[in-house]
Amino acid sequence: MITFKLTPEQELIRASAREFAETHILPIAGELDEKQEFSRELTSKIAKQGYMGIIVPREYGGAGADVMTYCLIIEEISRACAAQSVTMSLTNSLVAGPIINFGSDEQKKKYLPPLARGEKLCCFALTEPNAGSDSANQETTAVLDGDEWILNGTKIFISNGGVADFAIVIASTDRAAKIRGLTAFIVEKGTPGFTVGVKENKLGIRASNTAELVFQNCRIPKANIIGGPGRGFRIAMDTLDGGRVGVGAQGVGIARAAFEAALKYARERKQFGSPLIDFQGLAHKLVEMQMEIETARLLTWKAAWLKDQKKRYAKDAAMAKLYGSEMATRVCHAAIQIHGGYGFIKDYPVERFYRDARITELYEGTSEIQRMVIASHVLK
Ligand SMILES: Cc1cc2nc3c(=O)[nH]c(=O)nc-3n(C[C@H](O)[C@H](O)[C@H](O)COP(=O)(O)OP(=O)(O)OC[C@H]3O[C@@H](n4cnc5c(N)ncnc54)[C@H](O)[C@@H]3O)c2cc1C
Repeated sequence: MITFKLTPEQELIRASAREFAETHILPIAGELDEKQEFSRELTSKIAKQGYMGIIVPREYGGAGADVMTYCLIIEEISRACAAQSVTMSLTNSLVAGPIINFGSDEQKKKYLPPLARGEKLCCFALTEPNAGSDSANQETTAVLDGDEWILNGTKIFISNGGVADFAIVIASTDRAAKIRGLTAFIVEKGTPGFTVGVKENKLGIRASNTAELVFQNCRIPKANIIGGPGRGFRIAMDTLDGGRVGVGAQGVGIARAAFEAALKYARERKQFGSPLIDFQGLAHKLVEMQMEIETARLLTWKAAWLKDQKKRYAKDAAMAKLYGSEMATRVCHAAIQIHGGYGFIKDYPVERFYRDARITELYEGTSEIQRMVIASHVLK
């Protein structure tokens, strides 16, 4: 049964995440954005809260929380700084997720505890110059040579790419077999032939590191394959389904920040002798914003609940991501409008929220790809 009531523990975790984000993240979010700086110090603080391993089982040093709780925290962190929620969500969903679901016992013991403690950073590398939305078209190859696989190729736009201690890399081990020939590898930093290329200069989530990864005759032990050869596409798609629930929560958090800023401004700013909020046109705009935020949260919670119940949730995750991301852009757009010219100026945070919101429509599958996923379920 779906309930709209959070458990006392979830209420407590949400309140604590809000306080943490307001105390430690919000005060420096603008500066990190301006400098385009990934902060290891802040990442360590987020890890000390237990957020990097929030969904990691307790036996591997995590909090063992459910997806719903994860979404509550992502929303609060995103409300303060979307870039920090990228690090948290990719660590949990895109890296710990596939290791928990498909990894061997040895891989779980080796990689999950340092991730959960924040001692190691990680990334998930699927995208390539010629494999974006068409992620099956992997040109990175791995060829077996004795007990090792030799990896060659380039990954682009990888979140955490420049700071990660290890990467989950999808590569083709059999090009003729197409998607059935894709394999997921764990590649550690320092492996000869593994280098970090350009760091991207971005519109938004600027405090998140986004970089290119290059593999040149990089030798990977057989034991570093996740789930066996040929399972890479299934692992990647399953991982992205999980990640999309978190992107829905991210959209809600960013939009909430924009709504709150707009409401405050509309109360304070006077024109024609009245606070802006007294103008019905703007009051109605704020109502629409709040309604959209709550709709996106419900979609996100539904997808999280389905995942927690171990039910099929791919369509619902795509809906949560699609609606949450496009909603965030719309709400941030409206928040700037309510601020008038001041909304365009960096002294006010809404311009950062607007820039940050935009990425949610692009990564982990663009809006067009979400529509294709949803269509494959509802137009059958
Ligand atoms: C800041 C940032 C962080 C990222 N982090 C990661 C990461 O950590 N790991 C990772 O692997 N990737 C990451 N990505 C990559 C991201 O997932 C891809 O950029 C995204 O999937 C789109 O691929 P593309 O950029 O190649 O666009 P393309 O696939 O070239 O798409 C261009 C346009 O065409 C549309 N399009 C494509 N095919 C279709 C179709 N069949 N029907 C209709 N429209 C279509 C797309 O929706 C889009 O509008 C990140 C990207 C950014 C910008």
